[in-house]
Amino acid sequence: MPTLRDVAVLAGVSTATVSHVINQTRRTTRETRERVELAIRQLDFVPNAAGRALAMRRNGVAHVAQFRAVGGVAAVAELEEPAAFSQPSQATAATASVGASRMILRLVRAAQPIPRVEIARRLGLNRSTVTEVVKPLLVEGILREGQETLPAGVARTSGRPPVALSFGDLNEFFVGVSVGVRHTTVGIATLAGERFGEEEFETPAEHEEALALMRASVKRLCAKVPGRRLKVIGVSVPGPTDAARGRMLYAPHLGWRGVDVAQALSVKPCGGEGELVPVVVENDATAAAMYEARLRLRDASEAPPSNFALVRSGTGIGVGLVLGGEVYRGTGGGEGLAGEFGHMTIVAGGKQCRCGNRGCWEMYASASAASSLYAGDRVQLGGQKPPRFVEIVARAEGGELRAQRTLERLGEYLGIGIANVITGLGVSRVIVSGRLVYGWRFIEAPLREAVGQSMAGRISGWSVEPGEPTGAGLGGAVEVAADEFLARVVGR
Ligand SMILES: [Zn+2]
Repeated sequence: MPTLRDVAVLAGVSTATVSHVINQTRRTTRETRERVELAIRQLDFVPNAAGRALAMRRNGVAHVAQFRAVGGVAAVAELEEPAAFSQPSQATAATASVGASRMILRLVRAAQPIPRVEIARRLGLNRSTVTEVVKPLLVEGILREGQETLPAGVARTSGRPPVALSFGDLNEFFVGVSVGVRHTTVGIATLAGERFGEEEFETPAEHEEALALMRASVKRLCAKVPGRRLKVIGVSVPGPTDAARGRMLYAPHLGWRGVDVAQALSVKPCGGEGELVPVVVENDATAAAMYEARLRLRDASEAPPSNFALVRSGTGIGVGLVLGGEVYRGTGGGEGLAGEFGHMTIVAGGKQCRCGNRGCWEMYASASAASSLYAGDRVQLGGQKPPRFVEIVARAEGGELRAQRTLERLGEYLGIGIANVITGLGVSRVIVSGRLVYGWRFIEAPLREAVGQSMAGRISGWSVEPGEPTGAGLGGAVEVAADEFLARVVGR
């Protein structure tokens, strides 16, 4: 007998979308709806009794009848798919896909404590799917379920005390290492992202020295929490990494090449017993994208955005991509390279970049580019250094026209590059993260104008929004570690 998944595969959509079309629980585009209906007819699929009963309870029998009788009810609206299902895994025989399981765990982590019914509602899943995923995890103690004080905004179910899911083991912890061009931060955090120990130092010029400092810092921080178990170390680096996420391939601003970060940082769990703790090395823009995805997952009352590009602008520019709810890192030989837009040319014959090219985007739209935009081409008198980005923002806020013009020009350059990203990738939602966000007030309007004038401006519903001004930093590195942990829980 054909299943919901068979319909989804034939129609080339997620199971959640099929479910929405059948139950009319969310509006879908006409094209999606027609594809699903065609697949249903071709397979002669009959929704199961439980699903029908659920739909009838929710919407009244008339809706199901209407679906049968009318078939193609046109409901044209933008569909934001639940993130987990756009790339269903073929590997699992269970009803809940690996993607769905991972998304459920991510939501529990982001919004814990959270009731099952709320998870099902937000992700557009059946409650039975949620139960199927969480039951074995409750038995194993990975999750726990009890009466909790629910976060604001989560509706209580009728009269009964709320029962909500959380992660069970409070003794596990994660290490994040954020390698910046200027500073490196090492911190320890719980699965929920609460940090409880942090160290920072200037990033040494030589990578051997930097790695030795990081390793010493990890050991010192771990020693402060005896009895707790270190599960994963996440490292964010300012450059692309290899496919295995162990080596940093190249960091242009540090001049480091082929650095095996994972090997240098691998430690035994605190106490020195057991297997080596896994180390995952990730590009900082991708790490920032994961961080922003979690914030939006926590705050979204419905399905979170499943496709967006994150432009991280600090010393350089990096782009992180989230497609179908998962970070996209490239494929084949290019895995780990996706998002290297900082060095695309936006000014022919423009400023010399350290990558060897001229006129790269980050020479015009990164936070550090603001200094040279501010100084202009004039010879600097008295050897005075031009102000740094935060100082330029302070001056602009103080009413200095030159600082305001600088930020406006930077906004325009940023917008030109963002328009290229939107058009080139076909992703309409962009989040800007990093120091640049501090000057958003001045940057936003010229940025929007530049995007609006480009072909990207004709894409309906494009959006550019500010994210974390720190560029996620340590938060992103912890995110990399925690997400790896969840992937391992799902993949057992
Ligand atoms: Zn360059």
